[in-house]
Amino acid sequence: MLGLTILGCNSAVPSFGRNPTAQVLQTQKENFLIDCGEGTQMQMAKWNIRRSKVTRIFISHLHGDHYFGLIGLINSMSLLNRTQDLHLYGPKELEEIIGIQMRVANSHLSFKLFFHPILEEGILVDDNSMTISTFNVKHRIECRGFLFREKKKPRSVNGEQVRAYGIPVSFYEKLQEGQDYTNKEGTVIPNEVLTRPGIRAKSYAYCADTVYDETIIDKVRGVDLLYHETTYLKANEDRAQMHFHSTTTQAATIAQKAEVKKLIIGHFSSRYEKLDEFLIETRSVFKDSVLAQEGTCYKI
Ligand SMILES: [Zn+2]
Ligand SMILES: [Zn+2]
Repeated sequence: MLGLTILGCNSAVPSFGRNPTAQVLQTQKENFLIDCGEGTQMQMAKWNIRRSKVTRIFISHLHGDHYFGLIGLINSMSLLNRTQDLHLYGPKELEEIIGIQMRVANSHLSFKLFFHPILEEGILVDDNSMTISTFNVKHRIECRGFLFREKKKPRSVNGEQVRAYGIPVSFYEKLQEGQDYTNKEGTVIPNEVLTRPGIRAKSYAYCADTVYDETIIDKVRGVDLLYHETTYLKANEDRAQMHFHSTTTQAATIAQKAEVKKLIIGHFSSRYEKLDEFLIETRSVFKDSVLAQEGTCYKI
C-alpha cells in the first residue's frame, strides 16, 4: 500500500498558512520526497515524516517554489550524521546549484549524494518493488511529472491450507509463483486452494506545474491517484494559459479522460484564501476529487 502526505499545497508565495509544493510518497520500506519547496523540512518535522526514511528525492523543475527547501534539508541530514545514500533526480542544472551552495559554505556531506540528471522521458528507477518514470509536461520552463507504479505482488501462502495438505516448505516459493502441487499419490491440489491473491499493485502520478495538456492523458491513464495542479479557478482560464498553469475544470477533464480512480488538486494561487470553490468546480467535472491538504495522508 502507498500513502501520499502533502507537505505544501500552495503555489509560488506561501500564504494563508499554506506552504509551497512538497509531498511524500510513503511505501512500507521508504519515503520518496516529491519536490521540496521552502519550509519542507519544517513540515516534515511537524507531520512526523522521518528524514532518515527518505531514500530518493524528485524535483520537477527549477522554479523556487519546488526546490528552495532542498539545500536546507540536505544540510540537516548531514548535520544529523546521516550515512545512508541519498538519490536525487532533477533538471541537470540542479547539480551545479547544489555544488555552489556546498562549495562556498565549505560543507562536506556525511553521506553519499547521487545526482541523476533528468534528460528525457523514461524510467528512473526499476527495482523489486516499484517502477518510477518521468514524463514531460508543458510549463514556462522545462518541467516533468513523475509516475510511481508498484510491482505486482506474488500470491501469498495460505498457512492453514498448506499445513492441512502437508505441503513442504521448499515448495512455498513455487506456490507464490502460481504453481499447483502434486502429492505422492498423484493428486493435484490447485494453487488457488493453497494461496491467497497478492495485494493489487497501486500507482500514483504527479503532474507538477503544467498548462492544460492533453498529451498527459495517455501518460497517466488509469492510475489510482492523480495529482494535478489547479493554480486558478475556472474564471481565470486566460490567466492560467498565460502563466502555463491549469484551472479546476481543466485538471478534472484530464482526470476524467485518463479514467483515473481519484484526483487530488493543489498548487493553489495565493490570491485565494478559501478553497471551497476549487473543490466544487473540480467535482462538477470529476466527482472523485479531493483538495490537497497539508498534513493529510491520502491512502492509495
Ligand atoms: Zn509552482
Ligand atoms: Zn513552476
